[in-house]
Amino acid sequence: MAHKPGPWRCFHCDEVFTDEDAAREHFGTVECEDPICGVTAERYREVERQLASFLSETDAASTTFYRLGAEHAAKERAAEQKGYDRGLADAKAHPETLGLMLATGTP
Ligand SMILES: [Zn+2]
Repeated sequence: MAHKPGPWRCFHCDEVFTDEDAAREHFGTVECEDPICGVTAERYREVERQLASFLSETDAASTTFYRLGAEHAAKERAAEQKGYDRGLADAKAHPETLGLMLATGTP
């Protein structure tokens, strides 16, 4: 049995579409999309704000991403400093094992 496309009638506004692309634009292509006739001005502005937040990377996911990156970088610097300090302390404590000589005053 061949599939006969359209027409499609919107359950919300009763508009009828004979063009498949126009119907897709009206209904959306995935379940999470609202039919365009049901989009209120408040919902439209809310989505605009969400998009602006996403594009400016001030949304929750972006701020978490950058916070975690900054925390990781700080921990990495602290670990590097700790290793440097330990190496420097070892060198001061046992300079002869490193082929170093103690400074004996100003030249
Ligand atoms: Zn509709």
